[in-house]
Amino acid sequence: MSNKIYLSSPHMGGTEQKYVQEAFETNWIAPLGPNVTGFESDLESYLSEGKNVAALSSGTAAIHLALILLGVSHGDEVICQTFTFSASANPIVYQGATPVFVDSEPETWNMCPNHLEATIKDRIKKGKKPKAIIAVHLYGMPCKIEAITRVAQKYEIPVVEDSAEALGSTYNGQKCGTFGTIGILSFNGNKIITTSGGGALVAHTPKLKEKAVFLATQARDEAPHYQHSNIGYNYRLSNVCAGIGRGQMEVLDKHVALRRDMHQFYKELFANREGVTVFEEPSATYFSNHWLSCIVIDPAITGFNPQDIVSALAKDNIESRPLWKPMHLQPVFKEAPYYGGTIAENLFKTGLCLPSGSNLSMSEKNRINKALEYFS
Ligand SMILES: *Cc1c(COP(=O)(O)O)cnc(C)c1O
Repeated sequence: MSNKIYLSSPHMGGTEQKYVQEAFETNWIAPLGPNVTGFESDLESYLSEGKNVAALSSGTAAIHLALILLGVSHGDEVICQTFTFSASANPIVYQGATPVFVDSEPETWNMCPNHLEATIKDRIKKGKKPKAIIAVHLYGMPCKIEAITRVAQKYEIPVVEDSAEALGSTYNGQKCGTFGTIGILSFNGNKIITTSGGGALVAHTPKLKEKAVFLATQARDEAPHYQHSNIGYNYRLSNVCAGIGRGQMEVLDKHVALRRDMHQFYKELFANREGVTVFEEPSATYFSNHWLSCIVIDPAITGFNPQDIVSALAKDNIESRPLWKPMHLQPVFKEAPYYGGTIAENLFKTGLCLPSGSNLSMSEKNRINKALEYFS
């Protein structure tokens, strides 16, 4: 059988090993060192002036620290977009807080600002003001961050901007990850750039970054002995992995362009197929890195459903996958309050992610084209 085509696989640029080699030569095989500092400053200059980035062991760790920094604790409620990967919501539970899930709007598939406001009002009426809002730029598509921020500010609730899938995306020319009270990024193996495993917290002040790093390195007080006044975590990024990240930063924009080429590839492929819609930006305000290219299918028009495509692709060893299953439909979150309609649920039922890597060769694209012939 031909080699497997993945949805999204690591794509090295070429200089990563040089930075990793440096870490070995200088024996900086630790969760600190020149690559960690260098990777952070690369991210800071990429995101924009004045941002303060703390490199961490994962995006999940970054969300967890963000919630801690915002004071989320036992018994609190945190609003979270329902249409997302479970890592957006799990850290709420790590803190002993309750997730309150909110539906998406159809244009960006992300948190609906109207549902958000209705949710806040109802939770306040029920006696508890939500402690934070977790908004996500899913599949790299910027959410309606301006409208969400307006609602959040009206009720004075901080926003955690889950930009794990959206490094390189922009809203109104501003980089995703820089809007929230705190932003987070992920460099997991399947993301647009990878450090094999890693993440980052984006803070607006050096002081907040310092606090994040303090908590991420076991919360050691300044004392000659080991003294602790806070519960700490081991969440810092390794200097070896950060070396991979430095190399990846050199090719980030190139990889964004290649992912967007993949999106264009699918737009052309399905151009004449009624009932298949390729997910795209609603207007020029939104610039998606198109981390994953997604389609929605109307079986009443096409006569086939997402599963038919999954099976056809699998026959040629090509990976595809349904869209994220909403959190309010997950067994583990079945007790959590939910606000909204069936937008996220219908996307889950009718949508599909297609191979979107920046490293797909012409012959791999031809294989995809051929496997999708019947559906396009
Ligand atoms: C990947 C991802 C995360 C978690 O990042 P990790 O680095 O894998 O821990 C969080 N939120 C979303 C939306 C993600 O896709």
